[in-house]
Amino acid sequence: MGPPGAGKGTQAKFIAEHFGIPAISTGDIFRANVSRGTELGVEAKRYMDAGEYVPDEVTNLMVRNRIDEPDAEPGFMLDGYPRTLAQVEELDGMIKHTGHALDAVVVLTVDQEEVVQRLLQRAETEGRADDTADVIRRRQEIYGEETAPLIEVYRDRGLLIEVDGLGEVDEVTRRIFDALDVVPQS
Ligand code: ADP
Repeated sequence: MGPPGAGKGTQAKFIAEHFGIPAISTGDIFRANVSRGTELGVEAKRYMDAGEYVPDEVTNLMVRNRIDEPDAEPGFMLDGYPRTLAQVEELDGMIKHTGHALDAVVVLTVDQEEVVQRLLQRAETEGRADDTADVIRRRQEIYGEETAPLIEVYRDRGLLIEVDGLGEVDEVTRRIFDALDVVPQS
């Protein structure tokens, strides 16, 4: 977890690689569908371009199907999901069914103002339609309203690992690995 621009996607890939499991990024799956022009992509694009969350039913079904794939059987790293309290409950149900358990929830903490600059820079290199100043603001706002409350939920469950997301990419990775090593693998 972490606000837009915290570096979730980058770090999720390193973690997944380390544990030999797939990194499942809802944002990446949505963007792949947008590029292919699928029905899901057309639906998701309307929300993403405005910085709004794609409706829970759409996102939940997509994740449910993805974690049912054989490569996710040994485990998986979720990036960008769950993002709402309803998604938390839905995920609980999904993994009960697949027989998985949550080992850890990593939150990258960053200064919101600082990451706006990162995102505006990313707009230049990656050309993401949702990396404009207005849409970034909206994404930050909705993160605060809908997603930040999940931090307390996972803290109460004893799963939360908070990591400072500022600094060099490999420095942040090291912090995450240090923190994760104390988490028992199930
Ligand atoms: P970031 O967190 O940096 O804004 P992501 O790639 O994780 O970027 O997500 C991009 C967009 O995809 C979000 O703004 C939202 O519209 C949509 N999205 C991704 N994950 C979810 C989710 N779990 N629930 C609803 N919408 C989502």
